[in-house]
Amino acid sequence: MRILIEKVLTVTMHERGEIDHCSILIEDGRIERVSRNAIEKMDGDHVIDGSRMIAIPGLINGHVHCDITLARGLGDGLTLFEQDNQSWVSRKKWYRNELNREARHYSRMLQYAEAVKGGTTFICDVPFWWYGDDLTAPFREVGIVGAVVLDYRRDFLTGELAEKREYFDAARQLQDEGHMPIVEAPAEEGFEDELLLRLMSWAQELDTLLHLHLAETTWRMESIRARFNSTPVRYLRDLGFLNERVIGSHGVYLNEADRKILHTSGSRIVNCPAAEMKIADGIAPVSELVSEGIPVGLGTDGALWNDSSDLFAEMKTLMLLQRVLKGADSLSAHDSLHAATLGGAQVFGLENELGSIEEGKAASLVLLNCDRPHLTPLHRLDEGNVLQLITSSARASDVDTVIVDGKIIVEGGVLLTIDEEALMAKCQELADRQFT
Ligand SMILES: [Zn+2]
Repeated sequence: MRILIEKVLTVTMHERGEIDHCSILIEDGRIERVSRNAIEKMDGDHVIDGSRMIAIPGLINGHVHCDITLARGLGDGLTLFEQDNQSWVSRKKWYRNELNREARHYSRMLQYAEAVKGGTTFICDVPFWWYGDDLTAPFREVGIVGAVVLDYRRDFLTGELAEKREYFDAARQLQDEGHMPIVEAPAEEGFEDELLLRLMSWAQELDTLLHLHLAETTWRMESIRARFNSTPVRYLRDLGFLNERVIGSHGVYLNEADRKILHTSGSRIVNCPAAEMKIADGIAPVSELVSEGIPVGLGTDGALWNDSSDLFAEMKTLMLLQRVLKGADSLSAHDSLHAATLGGAQVFGLENELGSIEEGKAASLVLLNCDRPHLTPLHRLDEGNVLQLITSSARASDVDTVIVDGKIIVEGGVLLTIDEEALMAKCQELADRQFT
């Protein structure tokens, strides 16, 4: 089916940064044409009137622990260290009993549904468990695509390592169904040379990316200083581990020398500003990373560390947090939208497929409904205020239409793929039953 979006104010995020009224033609899952002139309709075209809409590329959520969404809002008022070590949230029983296989499945379904309704078309899921779970079912049912970061442990609570064969089977299932497996490596407290190098060899063998939580908290930084008299980035560089396959999440504590190493190695960063505020991690040097040319993506993190999965809120938070520390011109609205779109695509090596509205790319894009008091007025003078409306005024609930790989998944703000009421009822039932 062809989809024709007419007269829509289009923010392409193409390198030239075009913002203009365009018609967009989608065919066979690709963006076939983006034109300032009208595109001729054909019989059977699905035509969308874009005259009160803004089109933006599909958003990329670069870091979410989706299998704990049923724990939304719990563990509040605690740092990550306190959650992990000194509270009821750190009880193994909590993870083991409350987050059983069914709860994890519906956690992922709920997170994916929330994400796609809010304009996310690609999500990087970092589940705590993957072994034995149906990894691709939530993608298939909700209609979103993404990556799954596969923990090197079969069970993260016992530390039991995965067998290479079963690990590769899971990775190849994801690849076969059009998703991206990513190899997980430990955060700083788990740094062991042999393990890190083995996991890098797995990423090379699968020809995929490798993810780790990197330089997120002061206690993790201190653990590397005490053990190796180094920073995590310097330690990994010296090990020969850093390269263009590596995605570091958070990257809060990166000094100038670390950033130079990241730049030289081609490694990338995903920042989660709301989560880092909520658990008091700190403020990452995002404006420096951006100006130094290191790919930066944006993530919400999981439900214990954010409570919501709204990338519009995240874009605003990213921008404002940088400005508190470094001034009003430190991170622009364009920089912030870039992190949620093309920057995220660069992080996952998908910049030729996703992240901008360009002919030939996958047709994953979002239409925002501008018929809202908080999205009025739209200024057209000079650069106008379009980018500010998107990054500072819009909310996830302003998303009208979401198209993923040429398929309409959300229309008129309604998720078309699943019974949302039934999903919410199931999640509430599980929460009532499990969290006692
Ligand atoms: Zn995380």
